[in-house]
Amino acid sequence: MESKDMKFGTKAIHAGLEPDSATGAVMTPIYQTSTYHQEAPGIHKGFEYSRSGNPTRSALEQNIAALENGKFGFCFGSGMAAIDAVLKMLQPGDEVLSTNDLYGGSYRLFTKIYAQFGIKFTFISMSEMSEVEKHVTEQTKILWVETPTNPMMSILDIGAAAKISKKYQLTLVVDNTFASPYLQNPLDLGADIVMHSVTKYIGGHSDVVMGALITNDERIADQLYFIQKSSGAICGPMDSFLVLRGIKTLHLRMQRHCENGKAVAYYLKNHPKVDKVYWPGFEDHPGHKIAKAQMSDFGGMISFTIKGNKKDDAFTFLSNCKVFTLAESLGGVESLLCHPATMTHAAIPKEEREKIGVVESLIRMSVGVEDIDDLLSDIENSLSLI
Ligand SMILES: *Cc1c(COP(=O)(O)O)cnc(C)c1O
Repeated sequence: MESKDMKFGTKAIHAGLEPDSATGAVMTPIYQTSTYHQEAPGIHKGFEYSRSGNPTRSALEQNIAALENGKFGFCFGSGMAAIDAVLKMLQPGDEVLSTNDLYGGSYRLFTKIYAQFGIKFTFISMSEMSEVEKHVTEQTKILWVETPTNPMMSILDIGAAAKISKKYQLTLVVDNTFASPYLQNPLDLGADIVMHSVTKYIGGHSDVVMGALITNDERIADQLYFIQKSSGAICGPMDSFLVLRGIKTLHLRMQRHCENGKAVAYYLKNHPKVDKVYWPGFEDHPGHKIAKAQMSDFGGMISFTIKGNKKDDAFTFLSNCKVFTLAESLGGVESLLCHPATMTHAAIPKEEREKIGVVESLIRMSVGVEDIDDLLSDIENSLSLI
């Protein structure tokens, strides 16, 4: 069966994967080798050197591409390395039009590293896509979209972004990390490149740092492959194996993340000590309609604030949770909590971060796949101490 005819759960387990041609091993072996024997100069089995290609990584790249309904996939040593590879497609003088509610690491790479090579970045709110067009110039080459956003869970309209990028011949890149390929497939909505921090939901077990890019455009794929092998920010075979293993349960994990996420979101919404709850599944969330149209469910990422907006109250909550772990990152089987104002968003000046909603009592949750009763009683207990 061809991958394109498979449903998601079948793809997660089978797409791009064949029993090993040398031994029949059903699970993709960890080809821990840097180089490959050649029978005569230039006569080989398709692999020459592991920077340009490794069978374990290739299997993973084909599998991840299939999950995003893409033809070409490329895996990198981190999500940031994947983003770095996209930016290397640009030349000095080119411009990137990016959402202003952006992953902090992407903002740092754009403004502190690529800006000094003559690439210009403009950050704008993209919650009204019609506003975006006004900022396109002759030099604009990339439209950079992230949805849902971190940590405010805003939803951007990928289809509307695709219309603008087609009209002005831009490359639309979507950072799909928060949604995962199970909930949202930007290539189907007109994106040119999908980016993932594989570290999060795709890997799913908080044991690997990795990034991926997926495209259907052969010209873009050629460029990305050339950059991947030339710059060399690849991932190793052991990590590729771990992620292949993680992906086999992606659909099962995501179902539970969504179920638990929904239960936690409603629980928080009805709690007297909780002020705002940001989760796109609520009908009164400003992006709910778009989320409903472009995502298959609403996921397990939730942010909320505590009434009175006191940092001390947030800290009391964060320090007393026993099932939720206080840590950066997200998307693993275990539930995590973070305090954006002091952790992920500390580098953004206070007034700036408060403008986007990152206030002192804001808490971000990555709801894991544990038993929901234990998660809710952990939240109840910690809130009772405020
Ligand atoms: C974590 C993350 C990244 C960066 O990925 P790394 O694997 O940590 O390098 C990029 N975008 C988003 C939305 C992320 O959550």
